[in-house]
Amino acid sequence: MSRFPARHAIIIGGGASGVLLAYQLLQNQGFGFRVTLIERRPEIGRGPAYHTNNPEHVLNVRAANMSALPDDPEHFWRWLSNRAEGPLCPDPYCFVPRRTYGDYLSSLTAPLTSSESEPPRLTVVHGQCVDLDEGPTGVTVTLADGSRHIGDVAVLATGNDSPVAKLPCDADPWAPPCLPLTGTQPC
Ligand SMILES: Cc1cc2nc3c(=O)[nH]c(=O)nc-3n(C[C@H](O)[C@H](O)[C@H](O)COP(=O)(O)OP(=O)(O)OC[C@H]3O[C@@H](n4cnc5c(N)ncnc54)[C@H](O)[C@@H]3O)c2cc1C
Repeated sequence: MSRFPARHAIIIGGGASGVLLAYQLLQNQGFGFRVTLIERRPEIGRGPAYHTNNPEHVLNVRAANMSALPDDPEHFWRWLSNRAEGPLCPDPYCFVPRRTYGDYLSSLTAPLTSSESEPPRLTVVHGQCVDLDEGPTGVTVTLADGSRHIGDVAVLATGNDSPVAKLPCDADPWAPPCLPLTGTQPC
């Protein structure tokens, strides 16, 4: 445990990158961080890739190669094998639903949000970051609801922007296939 007060890291974006950075910063207590993770979606560890509820939306990489922990390559497969719902596939060479991978990512940080320390080492805030101001003593992060979070460092882990439709009839590639196209102009 660090003898110094924890530095406060604010991570904006709770997709795979944000969650894994929070996990790594907090796993090693020698780093001396507490973390606030800001995510506009209702759940962390999802992002555009892992929020889908469609079980046919599977990972494009075998379970054997999807451990989130570089020094523990079998971590994801062990997590899959120990799920309360039972195993999803008989061996680590299968392709599991992307939603399940989101469950895995969010499970990494779940134990870190409940802590006996005050404030907790990981705080998850749901909201849209709209401004980031860097000053001589730290950073101020402003959310759309007007709330402010002050930290020592901020990390942008906001992923890629969603594609912008160039024509009214352009389909959103991440939308479920059952959604009708909108727009009146011919493609
Ligand atoms: C459809 C699809 C399928 C994929 N399948 C695979 C796969 O099978 N295997 C694989 O290895 N990789 C896959 N990928 C790639 C995968 O998405 C990336 O490797 C990884 O998830 C990117 O994580 P990220 O955290 O950088 O970005 P994202 O997942 O985009 O996360 C960024 C997060 O930041 C949040 N955010 C953005 N702006 C703000 C803001 N202003 N305020 C608050 N929150 C904000 C977003 O809501 C989002 O949750 C896939 C990607 C897509 C799009």
